[in-house]
Amino acid sequence: MELPFAELYKIKMVETIKKSTREQRDQWLAEAYNNVFNLRSEYVFIDLLTDSGTGAMSDKQWSQMMIGDESYAGASSYINMKKIIKALFGFNDFLPTHQGRAAENVLFSVLVKQGNVIPGNSHFDTTKGHIEFRKATAIDCTIDEAFDTTIYHPFKGNLDVTKLKAVYENYPTAQVPMVIITVTNNTSGGQPVSMQNIKEVAELSRKHGVKVVLDSARFAENAYFIKKREEGFADKSIKEIVKEMYSYADAMTMSSKKDAIVNMGGFIGFKERELYEKASVYNIMFEGFVTYGGMSGRDMNALCQGLDEGTEFDYLDTRIRQVEYLADKLLDHGVPILQPTGGHAIFIDAKKFFPEIAKEEYIAQTLVVELYLEGGIRAVEVGTLLADRDPETRENRYPALELVRLAIPRRVYTNSHMDYIAAAVCNVYDRRNTIKKGLTIKKEASIMRHFTVELERL
Ligand SMILES: *Cc1c(COP(=O)(O)O)cnc(C)c1O
Repeated sequence: MELPFAELYKIKMVETIKKSTREQRDQWLAEAYNNVFNLRSEYVFIDLLTDSGTGAMSDKQWSQMMIGDESYAGASSYINMKKIIKALFGFNDFLPTHQGRAAENVLFSVLVKQGNVIPGNSHFDTTKGHIEFRKATAIDCTIDEAFDTTIYHPFKGNLDVTKLKAVYENYPTAQVPMVIITVTNNTSGGQPVSMQNIKEVAELSRKHGVKVVLDSARFAENAYFIKKREEGFADKSIKEIVKEMYSYADAMTMSSKKDAIVNMGGFIGFKERELYEKASVYNIMFEGFVTYGGMSGRDMNALCQGLDEGTEFDYLDTRIRQVEYLADKLLDHGVPILQPTGGHAIFIDAKKFFPEIAKEEYIAQTLVVELYLEGGIRAVEVGTLLADRDPETRENRYPALELVRLAIPRRVYTNSHMDYIAAAVCNVYDRRNTIKKGLTIKKEASIMRHFTVELERL
């Protein structure tokens, strides 16, 4: 018999989770106004809300916590971070921040001015938030293939160079401070960007004097896909691939809560000293002194260890195969999911799942509600709620895709949990024809409404 794939870790510490009844979930969800961000985590059986900050740290990361240096300035933990950022990404300078959006806040305070346009591949919601907050505009240049969930394309996160060129030709250079390449492209489904594409975008941008910034939350998963899918990289190590990816970048913003496998943290990496110096002023104002920037020494130490482990092939292979394992179960049952599967999550195509629900009734959020009621599974909407209203017209922006994301935390759940999730999704799929009405909004915030919105079932 062929030996099956098994996780390349064993478990040293466990955390209890509780099942609940359908009646309990009905009540809890009503009390949460049909917004799963309002649910207490103890009311959730399997939490797929996000893979951000929810990973399990290793024994080595925990041991690094014990020898963190809490000195205000020049801590050894800071020096450790400087060393690994140089080794992995090739950047001489960096600034620690408390998380990814803080890195955006600091960097964009230097780079983004009112009236600017910032092209990219489906900017992440906080990234877009920080751009729009400064009265600038994010322009999506993702390739069209990304918006068809059934087409196979190995690098659906890619930017369309023709669309990018049009932006550079239509706007004066002074108005375009940077292009943001998000690796992997979270908003379009955790889809990778190819090395070739990063290189082409960088060459074109350099010609127009535009800086290349990599939004890097899942840079290691992106490198894994380059190794697996792009010609010429099969024999390269993940660390070698990462080094090449960043050789094309001027700066990076990082949410360490994803591929660095820590619960909190972030940083900005810089190629140019001058940009680092300008950003340092804002880091001191918003985050903390340049050698800790909102992070404790122990957390910086765990982050260093996490960056090293997170860029090892065996770890990435275990992780991405678990996501594929769940995807295969759903596909076998005919559930419409985004293909190929991304790195950190499964994305269900909610418009195909519930073809009868009107787009004004928040199709993807309706599926989120049903998954919770079915099995105590907390997923997240990546659709009209997340797309928010147009800042000018205040009309709903209806995105090309209505997705439900099942984000898989790193090293947290076993494949038995994947079996349970698959069964719950398939049960809802089997009774999909009985669900014809969605939700309506009762209350919402003026920006990033999805976190706090209150909804009612129609
Ligand atoms: C998570 C994420 C961010 C923001 O990071 P936080 O740590 O949540 O503040 C930015 N960009 C991308 C692509 C992300 O996935």
